[in-house]
Amino acid sequence: MKYRSVAIDGPSGAGKSTLAKRLAQELGFLYVDTGAIYRTVGLAVRRRGIDPVDEAGVAALLPELSISMRYGEDGLQHMFLSGEDVTGAIRENEISAYASKAASLPAVRDFLLEMQRRTAREHDVIMDGRDIGTVVLPQADLKIFLTAAPEARAQRRYRELLARGQQADFDQVLAEVVERDRRDTERETAPLRLAEDAVTADTTALDLEGSFQLLLGLIRDHLLIKEGQADE
Ligand code: C5P
Repeated sequence: MKYRSVAIDGPSGAGKSTLAKRLAQELGFLYVDTGAIYRTVGLAVRRRGIDPVDEAGVAALLPELSISMRYGEDGLQHMFLSGEDVTGAIRENEISAYASKAASLPAVRDFLLEMQRRTAREHDVIMDGRDIGTVVLPQADLKIFLTAAPEARAQRRYRELLARGQQADFDQVLAEVVERDRRDTERETAPLRLAEDAVTADTTALDLEGSFQLLLGLIRDHLLIKEGQADE
């Protein structure tokens, strides 16, 4: 049986994970948050005290890492590092920069590629990340490039941090968003870019509900059309 896949790529704070999670629930697909996988590597790098841009140091750590992903009864993705559930720990603000720096290393990307592809071979998936449509699942049934203006994305991230009780300064959050965009788009390996056959969805002027309806409509249209073609 061929499973269906929807790739959602875009910069941080565009709403990928919130929307992908809801869309997956609505459609009965598995939601795969690939950022969480990179964050788990980022956390491991930080705990070992390795500089995340030290390619040799990080590469030497990889074979020792035991990273796995499991879905709880809540249907949500939990990340494990050597058996420890680190789902909460990887969301600390400082882990974002570790994840993004480690993610620019080819050794890290190669290390995580098969884990992501295997999941899509075994389930209907909505997978979000930066290179899903371009590298991980180039044959995805639908590729969505989800984006929004940097200020709108920083505003969302800022509110999210405050809601979690973490301290935050808007200008700093905006600077981090811009810096992470730069690193994700300018890196040599698997940079964030629009796949040729991706549909762009800009959510700057949309609230969560509006964004959800836009994407749900896109997915239903595309998957139904494909299924209709397969039946002919
Ligand atoms: O999506 P999230 O912000 O949690 O991802 C953390 C970091 O992991 C991103 O800034 C990005 O550098 C990296 N990442 C990536 N490729 C992916 C998913 C995330 O490079 N597919």
